[in-house]
Amino acid sequence: MPLKTKFIIVTGGVCSGLGKGISAASVGTLLATSGLKVFPQKQDPYLNVDPGTMNPFQHGEVFVTDDGAETDLDLGHYERFIDENLSQLSSVSTGQIYTEVLQKERKGDFLGGTIQIIPHITNAIKAKVLEAARKSKADVVIVEIGGTVGDIEGEPFLEAARQLHSELGDDNVMFMHVVLLPFLGANKELKTKPAQASVRELRRAGIHPDMIIARAEHKIKKDHLRKLALFCDVKEEAVIPAETMDSIYQVPLSFEEHNVSKLVGRKLKLGSLKPKLAEWKKLNERFLAPNKTLKIGLIGKYVGLDDAYLSVREAIKSASYFHRVHPEISWIESESLENGDLSRLEDLDGIIVPGGFGSRGIEGKILAANFARTRKIPYLGLCLGSQMIVIEYARNVLGLKKANSTEFDLKTPDDVVHILPGQEKIYQKGGTLRLGAYPCKIKKGTLAHRIYGTEKISERHRHRYEINTKYEHRLEKAGLSFSGFYTKVRLPEIVEIKDHPFMIGSQFHPEFKSRPNRPHPLFREFIGACLK
Ligand code: GLN
Repeated sequence: MPLKTKFIIVTGGVCSGLGKGISAASVGTLLATSGLKVFPQKQDPYLNVDPGTMNPFQHGEVFVTDDGAETDLDLGHYERFIDENLSQLSSVSTGQIYTEVLQKERKGDFLGGTIQIIPHITNAIKAKVLEAARKSKADVVIVEIGGTVGDIEGEPFLEAARQLHSELGDDNVMFMHVVLLPFLGANKELKTKPAQASVRELRRAGIHPDMIIARAEHKIKKDHLRKLALFCDVKEEAVIPAETMDSIYQVPLSFEEHNVSKLVGRKLKLGSLKPKLAEWKKLNERFLAPNKTLKIGLIGKYVGLDDAYLSVREAIKSASYFHRVHPEISWIESESLENGDLSRLEDLDGIIVPGGFGSRGIEGKILAANFARTRKIPYLGLCLGSQMIVIEYARNVLGLKKANSTEFDLKTPDDVVHILPGQEKIYQKGGTLRLGAYPCKIKKGTLAHRIYGTEKISERHRHRYEINTKYEHRLEKAGLSFSGFYTKVRLPEIVEIKDHPFMIGSQFHPEFKSRPNRPHPLFREFIGACLK
């Protein structure tokens, strides 16, 4: 059967961090709301097999899919903008491609041949794109090539894209290039020259862009667009101005004002597309006219680094828009609380302790959990944040003063959080966490049940340690409820404090399933509790 899928290949020029992912995802919104099935694939040219072993300082958040892939944070944008659950096939890296090709070489699949970047690596890249199309049965696959045109690592990916275009034909593959127009303060001018140079670089790789997305921090004038069109040999209507907006959720609406769906529909022969954007408009109305401001404290390790907790921030934002409030998020470095001065927590309306690894700052997080519990401030614990609830309660209510997780204290006499027996001997760090979606059964009559309104849920995981059921009865009797379980091997999934307006933690990461127009129930009710 011939492949009917169309492909949009998104590249970036001038520099990284332009919002290429947001641009690509916004095009996805326009296509998906027109009724097309869209599947994104992010191609990361780095040599890591996946970003799972990278420090958030290097790479920002690791986004986890239902099937347990540890992926680039851009995949989170795609899920939120396209409203589709993604999979392993949405994430490709040089490390992954080389591992596959070299494993085949060792098996003897290429016996007699010399293995080369062209064709072996490029073929493997193309195979990934086509597999994504076949398995997802998408009408359109959006392929975002990470990095910047001109990077050495990116070349095989550009070459694979060039080959795809010549093999599948001009009606089936569209190239979209996202560039930056830098602003020169001295003469107060936007410059198009770096963008022109990056298009030249792209053309050297045999790729001619069909559309240019021009990003800028300042107002882009018609003149700039005209100049780009002329020098880059792109139709003027296909040079789309993309000035930085107050909210990323305004981008699809702005793209539509510049006829992006019409241009894509025409180029890829998809007919006339009519995106249904009413929900997106409503979301932006709520964002623009909040009734109130709430102060939410995020107690973390990577402070000042928005990308490290990207999905958490987006989940807070969408839950806040739902309640028509503006969330003022203060990032509080947990280590800074360890001297016992918790005054910075005084004026918070709610506290979130997000996920994390390693012992730095742990005691500060436990102090924050204690503060939230004793002052009855709404608290939401995400993975590590749920373990903090248990450790704090064991220490201060059960009186087990040295209670801890064996992640932070191997010799603790009370390992209220531990590694499951049998798992201790896993020494390989990459890809060995409990990853992806697991079902959870919620106990009736609990806060969790009230929040979800159902007994059966499925949520995504990324952790190694588990709350120890050995302490379940003692903790339950003292007022800490184990309100949700993975039942196959009985692992605690949700804990909550009975005598508290809202103190709950999940071993899973609810933030990954929150959507702009459908905030996750845990975040939605957390913000609701903060409002009270
Ligand atoms: N470090 C903890 C664990 O491995 C929590 C992980 C997380 O918060 N994602 O269990």
